[in-house]
Amino acid sequence: MSSLMQTYGRLPVTFSHGEGAYLFDTEGRRYLDALSGISVTNLGHAHPAVTEAIQQQAGRLLHTSNLYHIAAQEALADALTSVSGMETAFFCNSGAEANEAAIKLARLYGHQRGVDKPTVIVFENAFHGRTLATLSATGNRKIQAGFEPLVTGFTRAPLNDLAAVQQIAANNPDVVAVLVEPIQGEGGIRVAEQTFMQGLRELCDAHGWLLMLDEVQCGNGRAGHYFACQGMGVVPDVITTAKGLGNGVPIGACLAHGPAARVFKGGHHGSTYGGNPLACAAGLAVVNTIIKEGLAERATAAGAHLRQQLADGLQGCANLVELRGRGLMIGVQLHRDCGELVGQALAAGLLINVTAGNTIRLLPPLICSDAELDELAAGLITLIRGFD
Ligand SMILES: *Cc1c(COP(=O)(O)O)cnc(C)c1O
Repeated sequence: MSSLMQTYGRLPVTFSHGEGAYLFDTEGRRYLDALSGISVTNLGHAHPAVTEAIQQQAGRLLHTSNLYHIAAQEALADALTSVSGMETAFFCNSGAEANEAAIKLARLYGHQRGVDKPTVIVFENAFHGRTLATLSATGNRKIQAGFEPLVTGFTRAPLNDLAAVQQIAANNPDVVAVLVEPIQGEGGIRVAEQTFMQGLRELCDAHGWLLMLDEVQCGNGRAGHYFACQGMGVVPDVITTAKGLGNGVPIGACLAHGPAARVFKGGHHGSTYGGNPLACAAGLAVVNTIIKEGLAERATAAGAHLRQQLADGLQGCANLVELRGRGLMIGVQLHRDCGELVGQALAAGLLINVTAGNTIRLLPPLICSDAELDELAAGLITLIRGFD
């Protein structure tokens, strides 16, 4: 028993190092990493561009403070706004913090428009983080239970149910924003339909609400575009991201466009570490590598390849309910809860995750070769066919 608080259920393995799509444990066993630390190490382990950027920056300057100008932070803001079509960026250290920034921004926007109790529409099965505001926005009672009183100012609708959102619009004058994952990750790899996203954009325009997208998990190339919304024909007012942005160095960002880009003024928000030179040097290497190596496009091709392999290999398999996702963000829903597959996969040298009880979540690094994807598909097919 260690002296750690027991907040996690951990698998019985400790890794010592990684290379590309593989991790190695302290016994020297090799594992194909189809989870990427939950969509974090999207460029694989020990990517030379990221390693070099971190090493160079570490030898010069780790941290100053946001009391001063930070060149790497400005460069990363330029790179992210340019790749996304957003205008401004605020940097923090995690996905939850990126969403906290968005929620604060929405509330301030509401107050500036004379709404005293600004309310944000959120969705069933959403996941937005573990801080008090973000767990209150999350659509999962298990994550909220025991932490009441929850933060108020959220109202919930089912995903892909535009009529339900229209109903809220007709009845709740306090709404100022919508917060939605274009692809729900923890919720079971549930894709928001393009017509739904476009419908939300129209409702936001009609009512003066902000459309805020949580791309903490689906952003940074994973879903086939730098941000998933770029494949859905919508320009949001706010995008939050984190996870894959630092390839393992903690960093989060809240990006904004239009009126939302000018809501925060001096003193409205802050973070001691947010956007420090080390994290931004890593982030800049990540964004530049994703663009230069065409990794978002690669995610589309690799995802199609992997899904085809899985569909072929699982043909006629009664255990399979549905294969879904975008790019290299893939969910394999089985006919019943399948958490035990995670341990079986580990024993077979494969790192996967199960979410929403019955859905295998695949988030392999975007640098995976076809041969590595074939290895993943073959391992999974054996596990799924052996599961009943
Ligand atoms: C992981 C995740 C978060 C929370 O990110 P942390 O870095 O763990 O705080 C928020 N939103 C989504 C969609 C996520 O997948």
